[in-house]
Amino acid sequence: MGTSNTADKVVVITGASSGIGESTARLLARNGARVVLGARRKDRIDALVKDITALGGSAVGFKTDVMKRGDVEALVKGANDKHGRVDVIVNNSGLMPIAPMAALKVEEWDRMIDVNIKGLLYGVAAVLPIMQKQRQGHIINIASVAGFKVFAPGGTVYSATKFAVRAVTEGLRMEHKADNIRCTMISPGAVATELPEGSSEEGTRKNLRDFYKMAIPADSIARAIAYAIEQPSEVEIDEVVIRPTAQDF
Ligand code: NDP
Repeated sequence: MGTSNTADKVVVITGASSGIGESTARLLARNGARVVLGARRKDRIDALVKDITALGGSAVGFKTDVMKRGDVEALVKGANDKHGRVDVIVNNSGLMPIAPMAALKVEEWDRMIDVNIKGLLYGVAAVLPIMQKQRQGHIINIASVAGFKVFAPGGTVYSATKFAVRAVTEGLRMEHKADNIRCTMISPGAVATELPEGSSEEGTRKNLRDFYKMAIPADSIARAIAYAIEQPSEVEIDEVVIRPTAQDF
């Protein structure tokens, strides 16, 4: 058997309190990674850390609001202080309140921009100096199929944030290949998580619940993330799109 490329890697995950982030934390810890987990719901993070540790894995948790640059800095610094390095960040935190543009949910637009774009950029800003110094690192950004096709009516601003994630990931790749920093963008379709419950109107939530009947488990996305991390350092998986077989969008 070959040697694992995941064992002992220090992996920071934002939005690890549920869904894709939580599944990824569990899988990577099983594969021997040392996971460092952040989200606002600290009770959920603490319970996850306890579970992983009880199974013999390595995990620590932080209360992290990615809208606050200082919180994201503290999460990454926590990983670096404890383990002396940061090998991977999974910029996963995100929200998807869906509504037509005419509803003028400007506060929801702001929050999506703050979390899905700015929060992700704070993650990039926190790890880049460390990874440049290490001359090694891996930045994994969670986008969406809505980053390839505009999800309208309703998801116009959400799509805009995910198009931005694509641009950032590709630009980072071009700027930092010389630093030996890998960049990967994972674009899921419908995945069974709490995400579709984030809309402020009950009618929209109901429509999304119907659409999400075809959703695939979060673990399907975790496996793709784990596969990208497991590659030898000279192999970069740039983009992965994963959707339910039955989904056309
Ligand atoms: P969940 O709602 O289950 O998870 C979202 C995570 O983001 C939670 O852990 C939440 O933690 C975190 N989060 C939200 N706001 C903040 C914040 N201000 N600071 C820190 N963390 C925050 O949904 P998913 O697992 O599905 O979502 C994960 C990613 O996958 C998102 O980027 C989403 O856009 C993307 N995606 C999901 C798809 C799906 O169908 N499920 C499809 C395509 C992409 P907390 O509330 O505790 O802070």
